[in-house]
Amino acid sequence: MSIALDQVTKRYQEQPVVNDVSIEIGEGEFFVLLGPSGSGKSTLLRAIAGLTGIDHGRISLHGRDVTHVRARDRGVGLVFQNYALFRHMTVADNIEFALRVRRMRAADRRARRKELLKLVALEGMDERLPGQLSGGQQQRVAVARALAHKPQVLLLDEPFGALDAKIREELRRTIRSVQRELGIATVLVTHDQEEAFALADTIGVMNHGRLLEVGNPNDLYTQPATRFVATFLGAANLLLARQSADGIRFGATPVNAEGPERVPAGREHEVVAVLRPEEVEIAGAREHLSSNYIAKGAVEEIVFTGALERLRVRLLDEPSAAMLLGPGGANDARLEVTRTQPERRDLPLQTGAQVALGARRLHVLPTPLSSFLACAPTEAAAAALANEPLLAQLSTNMKTRVVLRSIAQGPEVTGSPLPFTGVAAISAGPDAAKTVEWLLRNGANEVLVLPRNAPSPTRVFIHWTHEAARRATLAVSASLLRHVSAEAIYLGIVPEGPPGAGHAAPMRALLDARSEAQSSHGLEMRTELAIGETVSELTRTLSSGAAQMLVLGITDIEHAGTAYRSLLAAQPGWPVLLVYRSGEPQLRAEAAA
Ligand code: ADP
Ligand code: MG
Repeated sequence: MSIALDQVTKRYQEQPVVNDVSIEIGEGEFFVLLGPSGSGKSTLLRAIAGLTGIDHGRISLHGRDVTHVRARDRGVGLVFQNYALFRHMTVADNIEFALRVRRMRAADRRARRKELLKLVALEGMDERLPGQLSGGQQQRVAVARALAHKPQVLLLDEPFGALDAKIREELRRTIRSVQRELGIATVLVTHDQEEAFALADTIGVMNHGRLLEVGNPNDLYTQPATRFVATFLGAANLLLARQSADGIRFGATPVNAEGPERVPAGREHEVVAVLRPEEVEIAGAREHLSSNYIAKGAVEEIVFTGALERLRVRLLDEPSAAMLLGPGGANDARLEVTRTQPERRDLPLQTGAQVALGARRLHVLPTPLSSFLACAPTEAAAAALANEPLLAQLSTNMKTRVVLRSIAQGPEVTGSPLPFTGVAAISAGPDAAKTVEWLLRNGANEVLVLPRNAPSPTRVFIHWTHEAARRATLAVSASLLRHVSAEAIYLGIVPEGPPGAGHAAPMRALLDARSEAQSSHGLEMRTELAIGETVSELTRTLSSGAAQMLVLGITDIEHAGTAYRSLLAAQPGWPVLLVYRSGEPQLRAEAAA
């Protein structure tokens, strides 16, 4: 490995800006760190370079642990967005600067400089001052300067930022060819997905300090695991589909895809599917579609962009329209469609035209959190709940919706006319546990219990009471943690045993949980072990600090209303996200094996 990061965390004012990031970058690999502004990319790059210290984790370069090695001894070359050339020095002096500092002989310096200028296609520019060069040329000098001392790792932070499109593309080619020629492991930071696609062998997508997904550009585009990556890497329509034991459907359309988990007979899960604009087929009538029909639509907007035509189509079938997530909210969602010139010639369209829409390819995200259902005794109380800061933050970040539902439930009420799909949210309080039990009996799989005005958590504790809930709890936790900026801690709890009882088995379970979180859900978490009774240990842990939250996996409904009463009623309290999985006998057997 050229670069290996192991659970690197950097905090500013207690807030993790880089949160438990682990990456392995191979020899000669071009790795692009992609993410929106503020996601922690530069901080991570500076940590690799040694320009900023880290609070947790380890950094190795070519097998050498450099976590505590100072910047100039790490063997890295750095290029920043704002040239950072010495303005009063010639190109030659700029490039030779690092060599002079390292006391290289003048003749060797000159030879190295000539070599580098040739490499970045600036031969003969030696005596120019930076002010006499274009922006693109200055950036090439910066690249040459960064490479002068033969670093083993090249780090570039938005090096194209200040350049216009054409020069950007030229410089991109130069950097790619220099990188190939030298075979040097490179990390380039950018917020521009097109740039990432053009350059990367591997892309790592960051958001809120977390590294969400790593993969080659094509895989990340066609099979993203998270809605953030799906929407950040290109236009995407997000749809809510239903998964039952019979498969996945969008409205009445069967979706040819795998769901995130098996659903037991009689229960239903909501899943999120991605439909890229170029995968939507438009036909004059349903029988002319060659792909799966999804809905009727009316063309509302047509924009010509040269190679492609972009359309916005309003869905006309009520049930389908209700399942399209969009920036305008549930009632205002529009399907985005792009067509190529040949497709356009085959079926010329005007605004207002009614069309049949098909999906050539739908990709189901492996996320267990789809939408929210704010449940309260009255519609007004449900609306207030939907405005709770944490719920508002989650639904916004997840680009999903909160549906309001007034529930009139009492201990005697059983059965609900409407299915509880998505995450049900309720207010914390003395009756919360009873309500949870009622919701679970009526089909809910996840319930978020919210105290008033709970802040966004900085620490999320994860625990499950039975191994059969492990997988789902980890999946839900990973999804949650992609949308809040918090540290994840798995809390293992072992009952007080006779003196001398070993903790080897629980410790092993702890480590297994951690590695499963990492490998199956991309979630980096810490682990803690507590000894005692579950509810009191959870309570003790959660009351130990502010802005903490719990994700709790359970398999029994029977005792939910009594067992967790204190946990869900405590004031001022903490948010609890309960994950219920029925734990079919078969799953239990697997977990026990
Ligand atoms: P990016 O490069 O992805 O835009 P940065 O790594 O520059 O993101 O910043 C990530 C977050 O860390 C931002 O919220 C930023 O304000 C904060 N941050 C960066 N450097 C510091 C610092 N020295 N002190 C406090 N906060 C910082
Ligand atoms: Mg930056």
